[in-house]
Amino acid sequence: MAYMQETTTNFRKSLDELSALLNSSQRLAIFTGAGISTESGIPDFRSPDGIWTTMAPIQFQDFLDSEEMRRESWRRKFEVDKTIRRAKPNNGHYAVSELVNSKKATAVITQNIDNLHQESGINPEQVIELHGNGTYAKCLNCGAREELIVIKQTFLGRDELPVCEFCGGHIKTATISFGQSMPEQPVRRAHDEALTCDLFLVIGSSLVVYPAADIPMIAKKNGAKLVILNRESTPLDNYADLVISEEIGEILPLSIKNN
Ligand code: NAD
Repeated sequence: MAYMQETTTNFRKSLDELSALLNSSQRLAIFTGAGISTESGIPDFRSPDGIWTTMAPIQFQDFLDSEEMRRESWRRKFEVDKTIRRAKPNNGHYAVSELVNSKKATAVITQNIDNLHQESGINPEQVIELHGNGTYAKCLNCGAREELIVIKQTFLGRDELPVCEFCGGHIKTATISFGQSMPEQPVRRAHDEALTCDLFLVIGSSLVVYPAADIPMIAKKNGAKLVILNRESTPLDNYADLVISEEIGEILPLSIKNN
């Protein structure tokens, strides 16, 4: 009973503090990670049931060097997609979309590749994707876009690896693998957001994947307040003005209603 009361008091306190910070912010930057999508049924990276906890990720160089790795990568993609493609945005995504569409924030910076911010009603131009997007594919040589439905038919149906019809380059999902360079323009835009905000809100990220995890500290060092909303502790908790260990879908929508 006493424990439940304490939990409720902690939740209320975090909610009030988050609402107050959101209320007083003139320029908010939002940074999301896999944790915002777990309530949509997409496992995150590091939880015990996480997608890659049991499967080592394929390094970019291995994808380039080995036909077998390219095959393995496509096999995994279509397996993982059975979960990801069914997922719909949840209350956390809708809260973020309200913050962006009400112009409280100009954009959302995300490490996610699941397209759920766009599906929650945010203009795709206001979604800054640091790790790309897993709902389509691209030629690694000329950048031509390729649709997954076409690749699925040839790969699963005829066991053919996709190659670019224009230049013959390797086709890969439009995501950034370990060992692959970060996309220049989204990184520049994310840094601009960090340098111009007065409040930087991290939602559902373990903050251990670099260089993405550098971005909150850029904002903090530039004078912005830093809030971390994450179920587990992160390496940046000591630098944060507010750390909230609650479920995203429970607290974030309420903090906006309070505004
Ligand atoms: P991560 O898995 O390292 O960390 C997610 C964090 O969210 C964890 O610390 C977990 O405790 C927390 N969390 C999970 N559900 C939560 C909830 N409901 N409420 C509060 N906290 C919750 O994720 P990351 O930091 O984004 O890094 C993982 C990398 O893997 C990223 O680069 C991302 O591109 C990729 N990834 C993306 C997806 C996706 O697109 N949905 C899914 C898995 C991994």
